[in-house]
Amino acid sequence: MHTAAPILLTPGPLTTSARTRQAMMVDWGSWDERFNQLTASLCEQLLAIINGASSHHCVPLQGSGTFAVEAAIGTLVPRDGKVLVLINGAYGKRVAKICEVLGRRFSTFETAEDQPTTAADVERLLKADPGITHVALIHCETSTGILNPLPEIAEVIARQGKRLIIDAMSSFGALPVDAQKVPFDALIAASGKCLEGVPGMGFVFARKASLAQAAGNAHSLAMDLQDQHAYMAKTGQWRFTPPTHVVAALHEALLQYHEEGGLPARHQRYANNCQTLLAGMATLGIRSFLPEAIQAPIIVTFHAPKDPRYQFKEFYERVKAKGFILYPGKLTQVETFRVGCIGHVTHVDMQAAVDAVAQVLQDMEVLDI
Ligand SMILES: *Cc1c(COP(=O)(O)O)cnc(C)c1O
Repeated sequence: MHTAAPILLTPGPLTTSARTRQAMMVDWGSWDERFNQLTASLCEQLLAIINGASSHHCVPLQGSGTFAVEAAIGTLVPRDGKVLVLINGAYGKRVAKICEVLGRRFSTFETAEDQPTTAADVERLLKADPGITHVALIHCETSTGILNPLPEIAEVIARQGKRLIIDAMSSFGALPVDAQKVPFDALIAASGKCLEGVPGMGFVFARKASLAQAAGNAHSLAMDLQDQHAYMAKTGQWRFTPPTHVVAALHEALLQYHEEGGLPARHQRYANNCQTLLAGMATLGIRSFLPEAIQAPIIVTFHAPKDPRYQFKEFYERVKAKGFILYPGKLTQVETFRVGCIGHVTHVDMQAAVDAVAQVLQDMEVLDI
């Protein structure tokens, strides 16, 4: 039995460093000037990652990533707007659900879970429906790990004079996006993904002009990003009780992000994790669901072994006992499981996870892979 805390190979919450967790050992007051400086510094550093200081505001929001997605749509899409939601997995479907619940008009375009949306598709859809005002895209669709071609899609949307809302939750900080080159109204991410903070807050990079025009759009007080930003700009404080420990942990995680070498280094470590994982699983005969060309180095979906002796629940428990937490599959048609490549882990941990999987399959007498 493995006794140390298991390594989370899941796309959030994920494994954090001891230093990041240690940063939560202080109780901050929300009126504390030093805490307000922490928030301001956080927003400044986050904006720098997308080169967005001149064009966008960073608006942090309490809650998990979905809260920030819902807030971005509710705040930036006017009540008479219409959203084209691009779907190739569960998170795209969630955006459509958000539009439905908020009462924003929307249409959907769905491709198979192993098919990226193309810029040509988006161009055709926008030309066919002039009523569309906004397009919502999932950058890396975490339900499989597929990467959608953001720069090409963003360009088509801008050329058609429409606005783009990007759910970059699982890619921000690891895959590059330059706000001066990729036009968008909002890019949404959260504390507990590639920045390796703890979960509890999201943040939205909102185009300054669009946010200024968004007063009164929101259907909700707590989810109003325009109000959240206006209050913070005026007072330096969060509008409602801030997730103080989460902010402090994210600030500490960002220091480590920069020490490591920023985005290029984070991307490289995750790419190495992903390569080690893919190569190791291939030696066991376990096939990945996506072709490598569209696989983001964030999370990998694997086909489950065909052998009737394989059951995910037992497999999960046995791998967990060896120190690694895997993730169930999220596909409806095929039996799969997922392994995350992100978090405070290296290729050495990934190889150890592969070795644990090999041992467990042997122990379970799973032969037909
Ligand atoms: C994690 C994630 C979210 C947010 O999910 P929460 O459970 O609310 O944190 C949204 N979109 C994508 C693509 C994600 O990976």
